[in-house]
Amino acid sequence: VVGKIGNRICYFESGMTKKIELKQCILRDARHGLENHEFIFYLQPKCNMMTGELVSMEALARWQKSDGTFVSPGEFIPLFESSGFITRFDMYIWKSVCKTLAAWQDKGYKLVPISINVSMIDITNIDVPQYLSMLTEQYHISPEYLPVEITESIFAESNTIVKNTITRFHQKGFYVLMDDFGSGYSSLNVLKDANVDYLKLDMKFMQIDAKNKGKGIQILKSIVDMAHRLDLVIIAEGVETKEQSEILKSMNCNYGQGFYFYRPMSVEAAEKLIQTIPIE
Ligand code: C2E
Ligand code: CA
Ligand code: CA
Ligand code: CA
Repeated sequence: VVGKIGNRICYFESGMTKKIELKQCILRDARHGLENHEFIFYLQPKCNMMTGELVSMEALARWQKSDGTFVSPGEFIPLFESSGFITRFDMYIWKSVCKTLAAWQDKGYKLVPISINVSMIDITNIDVPQYLSMLTEQYHISPEYLPVEITESIFAESNTIVKNTITRFHQKGFYVLMDDFGSGYSSLNVLKDANVDYLKLDMKFMQIDAKNKGKGIQILKSIVDMAHRLDLVIIAEGVETKEQSEILKSMNCNYGQGFYFYRPMSVEAAEKLIQTIPIE
């Protein structure tokens, strides 16, 4: 036994090619999984930091294999990205999210935006603003209900493709979130060029332990203040405790996402939850 993903075990003949063979094996499974509807998404609410009110959600992909096992995106997304399969995969997820929004809209629920994750590879492979615009028209959803999360690392490249893509998202009515802000790839300078609407603060800023508490809080506060001065709405990710939420509240951080509020949940569970939101 030389390779494993989820509960899938792969056997190989020679050590030299084992990595490649493992990848091939997973990708074969993935193509099959796509046809077999093994890919689903979970939803994790984002909450107003001040009131705790649910304001939107994020779609997070899950691989539920026919044998009942789950594979986490941390395992399969990087592989899908390196093979290019990610774009077919993401198009499938985005479409599934639109179907859910359309179904909820038809049932007369108070809709909340569901953000989707977009990979840099997607942006180089296809015209993402055009594709999403086609989807929202097809499903009769207003584009403001489908914000896009793009990870910070791509802004570091600061190339014209990224800038133009964001402009085109805006032209078509989509909001853009910079995901994992501060995760390390880029400098604060990226904010000058990146014309995004929301900043999602990387989870590592939430790790304020007793030893470095003072510093951690000052860094957090500086980023929140800077974001506000730049007219950006800030979302803290990975909020796990009441203490973290109190700290963020005291800084006027706008939104929070994390286990303290809600864990990612099935579409069915999320549907029950949004039915409790009053329609004003
Ligand atoms: P991300 O976009 O930064 O998503 C946040 C991750 O943090 C999710 O992991 C979520 O389940 C987890 N999380 C949420 N709250 C907490 C918390 O309070 N504490 C901790 N420790 N973790 C929390 P997940 O679902 O495993 O997704 C991992 C990454 O995979 C995502 O990171 C995203 O970059 C990528 N991903 C997920 N779904 C998709 C997709 O459909 N397409 C693409 N291209 N990437 C996806
Ligand atoms: Ca995200
Ligand atoms: Ca993130
Ligand atoms: Ca991420």
